[in-house]
Amino acid sequence: MSSGRYDAIVVGSGHNGLISAAYLAKAGRRVLVLERRNVIGGATVTEEPWPGYRLSTCSYVCSLLLPEVISDLGLKRHGYDVRALDPQYFVPFPDGRHLFSFLDSAKTKAQILKFSERDAASYDAYWEIWDRIIARMRPLLAGPGPTAEEIERAFEGPHGERDWETLTRASVAGLLDEYFESEEVKAPLCVGGVIGTNAGPRDPGTAYVKYHHIIGNLEGHQGAWGFVRGGMGAVAESIASSARAYGAEILTDAEVARIEIQDGVARGVHLVDGRSFEADVVLSNADPERTFLGMVGEEHLPPGLVDGVKDTDTKGSVVKVLLALGELPDFTALPGKEVGPQHTGAVVINPSIDYLQRAWEDCKRRRPSEKPFMEGYIQSATEEGLAPPGRHTMSLFCQYAPYELDRGTWDQRRDEIGANIIQTFAEYAPNLPGAIEHIEVLGPRDIETRIGITGGNIFHGEILPDRMFGGRPAPGYSGYRTPVENLYLCGAGTWPGGAVFGAPGRNCAAEVLAESSGRLTVR
Ligand SMILES: Cc1cc2nc3c(=O)[nH]c(=O)nc-3n(C[C@H](O)[C@H](O)[C@H](O)COP(=O)(O)OP(=O)(O)OC[C@H]3O[C@@H](n4cnc5c(N)ncnc54)[C@H](O)[C@@H]3O)c2cc1C
Repeated sequence: MSSGRYDAIVVGSGHNGLISAAYLAKAGRRVLVLERRNVIGGATVTEEPWPGYRLSTCSYVCSLLLPEVISDLGLKRHGYDVRALDPQYFVPFPDGRHLFSFLDSAKTKAQILKFSERDAASYDAYWEIWDRIIARMRPLLAGPGPTAEEIERAFEGPHGERDWETLTRASVAGLLDEYFESEEVKAPLCVGGVIGTNAGPRDPGTAYVKYHHIIGNLEGHQGAWGFVRGGMGAVAESIASSARAYGAEILTDAEVARIEIQDGVARGVHLVDGRSFEADVVLSNADPERTFLGMVGEEHLPPGLVDGVKDTDTKGSVVKVLLALGELPDFTALPGKEVGPQHTGAVVINPSIDYLQRAWEDCKRRRPSEKPFMEGYIQSATEEGLAPPGRHTMSLFCQYAPYELDRGTWDQRRDEIGANIIQTFAEYAPNLPGAIEHIEVLGPRDIETRIGITGGNIFHGEILPDRMFGGRPAPGYSGYRTPVENLYLCGAGTWPGGAVFGAPGRNCAAEVLAESSGRLTVR
């Protein structure tokens, strides 16, 4: 009945699953990765929705991918090539002014001076608090969710209590209000506090989400984001190439229906198409709900875990709009249809904290934001080969539009929601609607269906502080081992959470190897 036997099976080829597979294969284990789609990468994927246009369907920029992963797995040798955006972002304002943020903080402060002398003077002090928090938290990323004692030790010393309060209780808006007076300066800085999150910038805990988005150090630039050559699929391809070089096998069109469990021990998997594979350990890269309630089954789990998973709201509110453009957006705040700095970083459409909070208040009432926040990326402006000559790609990451709408279905309202996003962007770049040659709108339900993430939640569950530390993957259950012996979780639903990060995949592999040393045999 079995189509093969392995030391380890990884369910899902998201970047975390691939990273676990590569580490296990590097340690000499015989590894099989099973991916339900016909393409690897999960939310880390480049696709060609229209001939000649290549876009990052979901994740679009990289910052967090651990340097340890890049060097341990030799990813640069396998094609991983990231370049920090510079400018990092461009913010056009409705009154015709604009703000850039650059890698060089002196240049950014010169931009801030246009809005407030006081804010330019406060800029370094604002980053000092984050530098301290990041230094405290960085060592806690390599390993299972930290214990209370480990957290206490990390936050010892001067400012420790304040830093912990800021990280776990503050709102991103409250923190910004302490340092800055200008709405224009605060507006782009608050965005990182709500990315992928069902909360507004004035909600407590959003400072943690901000922290999560600046822990990356890209080529020596703390908190910077960059494009990966070829789009985000190239991240997954480089990890897969490394894993294969160490001997891992990767099968696509291989959807796991059920994890075989006998006497409380995972023994292998059964695929939807009838194939079965046996293994000493099974790692699931799928989200906790899909893994536990879908592939494992309640009968094999403690009721507390089942309730925790069921009670967790995993519904996302992100909309991704993919565009093929005949010409570049021409911004009122900085005109020009030739490639300029306004096209090569993130374009942030969010003029104020209040604007973003209002966008969230709409979503709380189950309405798509009347005025959505968005980040636009035109990777083709910085790299040839992603669009036909003279044409461009653009992707818009937008919030918010709820999974459950107040009226109608996503199928009925997808076009209307997409049209409102385009119309809102056109308030800043009026030529956009006329420049669109192709458009695809992906709401939370589309992300769920296409990528296989329950609820379309981009992080496999909120990354607000109550769902981190000991609350990930479920309240009261932290770490990578599950209550089913030899079954592990290795995806974004585990500590230290989502994004193209690699920490869950790396930590999980380390735990499997530590647990199994001397037990797994290489066949
Ligand atoms: C729209 C969007 C935009 C984002 N933007 C960014 C960004 O710019 N930068 C960033 O760092 N992060 C971003 N993120 C978040 C980031 O992409 C994810 O948190 C991360 O990629 C999750 O990786 P993962 O490997 O844990 O899981 P996933 O990427 O979700 O992979 C899970 C894999 O498991 C597979 N799978 C599920 N069930 C089964 C089954 N039964 N059998 C076989 N295979 C199965 C799925 O098909 C999928 O390939 C974004 C996410 C989305 C959705």
